[in-house]
Amino acid sequence: MYSGMTRDALDWQKKIKKFVDNELIPWEVHAELNNGEIPNEIEQKHIGIARSFGLPGMGVSKEEGGLGLSMLEQMIIWEQLGRVTNALGWCFPEVQDWMIKNCNDYQKEKYLKPLLKVEKRECYAITEKGAGSDVEGSIESTAEKKNNEYVINGEKWYVTGANKADFFFVQAKIKGGSNEGTDALFFVDKNLPGVELLESPPFSHTYAFHHSIYKFNNVTIPLKNLIGKEGEGMSYTHSWFRHERLGIAARCCGAAERLIDEVTSFAKDRKAFGDVIANFQAVQFMLADSVNELLSARLMLYEACKAHDSNVDVKILHAKCSMVKLFASEMANRVADRAVQIFGGRGYMRENVAERYYRELRVDRIWEGTSEIHRLIIANSLYKRGLQSLIE
Ligand SMILES: Cc1cc2nc3c(=O)[nH]c(=O)nc-3n(C[C@H](O)[C@H](O)[C@H](O)COP(=O)(O)OP(=O)(O)OC[C@H]3O[C@@H](n4cnc5c(N)ncnc54)[C@H](O)[C@@H]3O)c2cc1C
Repeated sequence: MYSGMTRDALDWQKKIKKFVDNELIPWEVHAELNNGEIPNEIEQKHIGIARSFGLPGMGVSKEEGGLGLSMLEQMIIWEQLGRVTNALGWCFPEVQDWMIKNCNDYQKEKYLKPLLKVEKRECYAITEKGAGSDVEGSIESTAEKKNNEYVINGEKWYVTGANKADFFFVQAKIKGGSNEGTDALFFVDKNLPGVELLESPPFSHTYAFHHSIYKFNNVTIPLKNLIGKEGEGMSYTHSWFRHERLGIAARCCGAAERLIDEVTSFAKDRKAFGDVIANFQAVQFMLADSVNELLSARLMLYEACKAHDSNVDVKILHAKCSMVKLFASEMANRVADRAVQIFGGRGYMRENVAERYYRELRVDRIWEGTSEIHRLIIANSLYKRGLQSLIE
């Protein structure tokens, strides 16, 4: 067992594993064949269980209505939720610690508390047509102060979950005033005049959460919808990035675990040339490599969580989050590719877990920063802060 694992973390692991195995996994194939959707009463049951566990506030302090879990405990939960395909593990919104630290009382009441109760859902509108990897430098959406309000204009791409959300976190550049050109983050309600859905294109995976393109046409919001201060928007988005990058790494570890489990059982049962395929060295080598790479990614993940929980310098933490997101996402893609291979023709069927993961895990090398961008962040940190800061 990992030396830093706590009793509480193990309890969470057991509890969420049971939820995933008994409640979520049985609906995967249904979701796959129905555009990611499951019957409403089942979705509500999943939401109810997640709410009863307190998952929407897992990282929020107890004083603020959350569970106050460490990052390690949170990622143990996300790791288990990564063991299910078709995004069925996303059955709850998540309030993150940085939101509590930076949102005003009005925002907590109107946006965060309803998320904790799963009465509302959120989505993040950061990326634009011309601002993906270079999100900081190239954002063109603007927020202009007029008559004691902000007027938001711009187009946002790939807004995950907007179809199920009630409001957006919108990243924009301040237009006019002394903070002209600086970044700011806002709450924008989806039902406001001027919020326009342009397109919901289909993607490789089969999720009920769309990745839509939205346009904000002179959308007027109150000044109190600005999170923190003008000029600090990107620092909040970086906090979101770090959290999501750890979450992606955790879900990739969970996915790899599920794949290795399932494909090992299959290999022990499937016969060819008068023997089970598990006895063929070519299959054993694929499984052995997968196990080794999973353990490496998992240890990196837990160490990055420990770094977060012990408040290491945020720049070092940022690089560590990149390291584990990069390694775990590439690891899980290799594991999925091998699993498809071992399943043979069955691995190409949509009812097969490896086929679904093979498509689903591909985006983990793209969203929340591409693998290339993470390599740049790691190399940059190596030059600036030295090797020891990254490997100790
Ligand atoms: C399914 C999906 C869901 C998403 N959900 C959201 C969401 O909810 N909210 C949100 O705001 N965004 C979301 N995104 C956007 C996602 O974060 C971006 O797609 C990602 O950051 C990459 O940006 P891009 O697609 O514009 O690629 P680009 O930046 O155009 O990159 C294209 C290629 O060039 C490479 N490249 C770029 N710059 C460099 C460099 N300096 N050195 C080396 N290589 C480089 C990239 O690695 C990549 O291979 C989502 C994307 C997808 C596909």
